Amino acid sequence: MGCHDVRPMLAARVEELSPLEARIRAEHVSSCARCAAEAAAYGRVVQALAAMAALEAEPIAGTLERALSVIDRRRALMTDPRLAMVAAGSAGALVATVVVARALRQRRRVPRRPSPIPGLAAIPASALARVK
Ligand SMILES: [Zn+2]
Repeated sequence: MGCHDVRPMLAARVEELSPLEARIRAEHVSSCARCAAEAAAYGRVVQALAAMAALEAEPIAGTLERALSVIDRRRALMTDPRLAMVAAGSAGALVATVVVARALRQRRRVPRRPSPIPGLAAIPASALARVK
């Protein structure tokens, strides 16, 4: 199996592959630095998207497409697997930057979080002022 055969499987999660496909991919990636870098880059994108989901922030339209096109463009320019590895890393950093920027923007937009104590928010401020 060559890079060309394995490439379509690189972006897939393990549970999306058949056991045979997963084994073929694992064997190829363990002996091919380029495909290993690419698989790692896809892994970072998946992790970044999982982080976005945890933040309850929807990804900006086109974020994934942009990240993947960066990976694709750099891969096309590079033949040295070490450079491809660096490119994969920066694509991961790009997605992470987007996630952080998004989280900060979200926090700024909603400056006050609901009170963690249930019922406290329901008490009018004037009533609390009278207690003091
Ligand atoms: Zn390969």
